Amino acid sequence: MAPSAHLEQTIAEPLEFTGVGLHSGAPVTMRLLPAPAGSGIVFRRTDLDNFEIPAIGRNVAKVSYATSLMRQSVLISTTEHLLSALIGMGVDNAIVELDNLELPILDGSALPYVEAFLRVGIRTQRRRREYLRVLRPVEVREGNKFIGVYPGSGYRIEYTIDFPAPIGQQRASVDLAAETYGTFIAAARTFGYKADEQRLRDMGLIRGASPENAIVLGSKGPENGPLRFSDEYVRHKVLDLIGDLALAGRRIEGHVVAERAGHAMHTALVSRLLKDRSAWELAHVPVTAAPAEAASLRGTAIGSPALLGA
Ligand SMILES: [Zn+2]
Repeated sequence: MAPSAHLEQTIAEPLEFTGVGLHSGAPVTMRLLPAPAGSGIVFRRTDLDNFEIPAIGRNVAKVSYATSLMRQSVLISTTEHLLSALIGMGVDNAIVELDNLELPILDGSALPYVEAFLRVGIRTQRRRREYLRVLRPVEVREGNKFIGVYPGSGYRIEYTIDFPAPIGQQRASVDLAAETYGTFIAAARTFGYKADEQRLRDMGLIRGASPENAIVLGSKGPENGPLRFSDEYVRHKVLDLIGDLALAGRRIEGHVVAERAGHAMHTALVSRLLKDRSAWELAHVPVTAAPAEAASLRGTAIGSPALLGA
């Protein structure tokens, strides 16, 4: 592992994205700006006098279909895919300017962010990164849903999903310390069932959804083109989890196990973890994983992981 892996990083140049929010359908322009070491990820509503909301656990708002932040009744919605890309690619510090309430859904994955980071570059800063090192297990259980975080080297995630047909059960195990994010996780898109579409539209929950930004699932499988990975669904859940756990405010060092979880469970774990001050410490240097523990992604057959190289 390069020494720079222990230093904070930011993006080398500003980036701009435009699109619509998945849930609100609201048009939005989003700018990512480099930020000084130690600043973390801070959202800024340029349409509301540059009101700022740091991406940390105490600002988590109501969570159902997406993760949202709220401070003094100002909302920033659907933060998970961008936060996932930032944590996944090791970007600690950035200002995220938005001129509306919801982040753009783009293609439904984190790939557009990762490609943009790689295009402008990621800059190392003169400050050692603080990891949130897990010392004791913290678990949340709700019916048959479960999520827990455990002490361990690196940042490993094991996720099991069990959805109605045609998805069924899928399982993935990812070691992010081995820099697998861009290759195995970033391109996995969000998904929804055709059978639920009208009900969700009537409820105003997916005003921005289209076949261009979500896998649409019919009874036999995806209705809009081939999957990017045969187990794209569970990979997307891993993507979401990384984005939601980013709200711990630091990159986690530990192992996360999730079964049938979702945004509410992910953020409940963040709250419980942050509250239990004996369960973690801030540490500058990660416990380096043994080489044998490096890149691993088990689960169903791996599809084409080389999207980034295309
Ligand atoms: Zn998602």
